[in-house]
Amino acid sequence: MSDETWIPQPSEETQPFFDGAKEGKLRLQACGDCNAWFFPLVHICQNCGSTNLSWQDASGRGTVYSWAQLQRPYHPRHRDRLPLILAQIDIEEGARLNSNVVGVEPENLKVGDAVEVTFEQFDDGGVLPVFKPV
Ligand SMILES: [Zn+2]
Repeated sequence: MSDETWIPQPSEETQPFFDGAKEGKLRLQACGDCNAWFFPLVHICQNCGSTNLSWQDASGRGTVYSWAQLQRPYHPRHRDRLPLILAQIDIEEGARLNSNVVGVEPENLKVGDAVEVTFEQFDDGGVLPVFKPV
């Protein structure tokens, strides 16, 4: 498990994702030809091969596909947040996101639970989408 996997790094190409988060939107790439959604960044639609990709605001609704608890800090942003719930979230639009689930005790979280996006602001100024139970 690397930081690159769990904590997206801003770059010129991924900037719309981070700008979206600052605006309170879950902004992801979507294919204009087949309407498949992607995370992380792709350059060609993995569903139909199209390059007609654009950034769109997702509904922010999803379900928990899998999750685990992080007990040790692997990144400065983990401090004061442990145990942190690392989760894969299947969003309504079809993409699977690595994120965190907040606002729930681990013993009360189940695979298949409905969640919705919320946003966490970090001391370093970054903002990331995370999910909370509906
Ligand atoms: Zn496509």
